[in-house]
Amino acid sequence: MAENKKTYDLECVQEGFANGVAPSFPLSDKQKEKMIDKAEKAYGKFLDALGCDWRNDPNSNDTPRRVAKAYVNDLWAGRYTAMTPITSFPSDGYDGIVIERNIPLTSMCSHHHQTIGGVVHIGYIVGQEGSVIGLSKLNRIVEHFGRRGAIQEQLTAAIHQAVDKICENNLGVIITVVATHNCVSCRGVKHKGAAMVTTKASGVFRHNGNDARQEFFNSLKINNGGHQI
Ligand SMILES: [Zn+2]
Repeated sequence: MAENKKTYDLECVQEGFANGVAPSFPLSDKQKEKMIDKAEKAYGKFLDALGCDWRNDPNSNDTPRRVAKAYVNDLWAGRYTAMTPITSFPSDGYDGIVIERNIPLTSMCSHHHQTIGGVVHIGYIVGQEGSVIGLSKLNRIVEHFGRRGAIQEQLTAAIHQAVDKICENNLGVIITVVATHNCVSCRGVKHKGAAMVTTKASGVFRHNGNDARQEFFNSLKINNGGHQI
């Protein structure tokens, strides 16, 4: 239980907000099943309100359940399922920059409930007697906070706070999120390809033009798989 407590402490937004964790987080499998049953019924009514004859269409008659399962198990999984406990390790004398770039991001905007897709770049500098974090754990942090409704600014801040807390005694943390939003490409203005870039920096990365910040952004340009920032 202590491990769950540690995970919960990483939350920026907790109960009481639409983009926070669900009441009684983390949910048991039984609680999730109950939630899926309720959401399935409600989504069927939503389709009824839209004049959709889903019950008589073999492609759609199970759609309310599919949608409910997708939300609970995947799209909003970060609201219901605790992140696996994250361990940090002593840096053993390493005091340089650590960067993981192009971490895949799938999320959803809390304004329109349309998906967001892109990449997250994370950098931090280990302090004297500081902690480093297992590389794949950065991916897990992105998955956890990405898998719920959020606006990109808040998602960037949530990832930043988690890395900052786990990498104790760091000299700085920087998070850049580059994402396209389906609410921009599929509805409203309907522009495809516009990307939103958000950056949250602390410590040595905080001020424009300093060496650490330059090193971070320069490293993103090297063979970066086409993800320009
Ligand atoms: Zn939106």
